Amino acid sequence: MNFRDYLSAQDAVKNHYKKQRQNQTLQYVRHMHQKYHNFHKHISIEKCFQLLDDFIDVSDPDITLPNLHHLLQTAEAIRKDGHPEWLQVTGLIHDLGKLIYIKGSNKDGTSIQEQWGIVGDTYVVGCPLPKNIVYPEFNELNPDHYYTELGIYEKNCGLDACYIAYGHDEFMYQVLKYNQAKLPEEALYIVRYHSLYPWHKYGEYQDLMNEKDKKFLPWVKLFNKYDLYSKENSYVNVEDLMDYYIPLVKKYIGTYLII
Ligand code: FE
Ligand code: FE
Repeated sequence: MNFRDYLSAQDAVKNHYKKQRQNQTLQYVRHMHQKYHNFHKHISIEKCFQLLDDFIDVSDPDITLPNLHHLLQTAEAIRKDGHPEWLQVTGLIHDLGKLIYIKGSNKDGTSIQEQWGIVGDTYVVGCPLPKNIVYPEFNELNPDHYYTELGIYEKNCGLDACYIAYGHDEFMYQVLKYNQAKLPEEALYIVRYHSLYPWHKYGEYQDLMNEKDKKFLPWVKLFNKYDLYSKENSYVNVEDLMDYYIPLVKKYIGTYLII
């Protein structure tokens, strides 16, 4: 199977990226941080996963299964390679930020119908857009593309100091921090930047990177292997696998999440 084949992807994928590129500006991202980073809904871990079973990622040309299957496939591939529990948990929860749809809206691109504020490859806003990105022809639709050089950023300020196109990565990172998840820094970093393909896959944004980014990039790359190549359009046995994973997730995160 060929992964990330955007040339033969359906119109829905292309449309999704057009809207994402038009709407995901510095101004929008700042607005999203303010609006969505207040957490008050208590949801049990079991319910979190059930809710993701209703979500099919419109931006993904590879897979049309509910997201829960993707999470289990990712975690299973990590477990089979003998990686530690925390990385298995990271695999299982890395896309849980798509739950944002339960407090989302069409206008913000955070609903099941309009997903351009939830999913898709991301990029840094507030500076010119990279040429190594899916559908680079849409970059010109973004007003931030007309910034020069590093835009609003200082050289080597680090990704944590940058605004990234908003989506499930940033939302889940903020949720994990708010919920004081007992995961290592590497795990939080992976969750926060796993969709930043122009950076981790194509080496863009070198001038924005700091020492922390250099240190953690290999983790994001390692993780991406499992995020991408574990994808299969076949259902996994959710119940059996959950017997193993639910207690594991509870050990690191607790019995519920406040989102
Ligand atoms: Fe993701
Ligand atoms: Fe994923």
